[in-house]
Amino acid sequence: MADPVKNDRAAWIQGPSARCETPPEAIANPWRLILLGAPGVGKGTQADLLHQRLRACHLSTGDVFRAAGKQNECDLSPAMKAALDYMRRGALVPDATVWDMVRERTGCLRCGGGFLLDGFPRTLAQAESLKQLMETENLPLTAVINYELPVNEIVARLSGRRTCEKCKAEFHLVERPPKKEGVCDRCSGRLYQREDDRPESIKVRLEAYDRSTAPLISFYRELGLLLSIEATGSPESICERTLAALTAWRALTPASA
Ligand code: AMP
Repeated sequence: MADPVKNDRAAWIQGPSARCETPPEAIANPWRLILLGAPGVGKGTQADLLHQRLRACHLSTGDVFRAAGKQNECDLSPAMKAALDYMRRGALVPDATVWDMVRERTGCLRCGGGFLLDGFPRTLAQAESLKQLMETENLPLTAVINYELPVNEIVARLSGRRTCEKCKAEFHLVERPPKKEGVCDRCSGRLYQREDDRPESIKVRLEAYDRSTAPLISFYRELGLLLSIEATGSPESICERTLAALTAWRALTPASA
């Protein structure tokens, strides 16, 4: 089997002055997708799998905050320090901070390989800002994938999730355990439990989702961009379901895609 494609996403994670080691190849009709869904529904895992198949880069705002959290405190701007406090509590970071960060990385949205936005936008204000930017840049979205899962399954997924410190691959203690406990199958990095996957933060995150992010479903439905996918079953079967739905979607909406 061919080696998995893994872009280091340096320009996204470290900021626009960094250069990606292996930028995705520009393609004729890149996929520009937003992944929506409650925390724990598996967006990160799906973004990773879809990246392997569609080549589009996995752009997660949460990953940018987590990378900032590993830096020396003195190197962080006051806005980023405040953002990390929100994140540790499981609360949403203020729109202005998130938007400054995304706007700075517009180059990643222009990337000829396309993109898979994961965890952004998360509020109507962020969605409006993104819409305006994409219109100005003439970058039509292909679709907005909304992953759907019952709330009890979401809580089970979040509390069992373990993430690789190095390559960010995700595992689950029960559903997708690593071959060796605490060690990433892909890169041998250490697996850890994200601070915001602890029970007290999970509750806050689900409330924030209901209040702030769920309204994006209607927003994108009204724009004719919403593609809902049932997020039950193995990650691989969800990915196949998504790819089949995307192929059918493109066949139906070639102009916007
Ligand atoms: P995630 O990995 O997408 O679940 O994000 C982890 C945390 O980062 C969230 O719980 C928020 O605190 C923060 N965060 C990430 N993306 C956003 C966003 N678009 N808007 C506000 N907060 C965000």
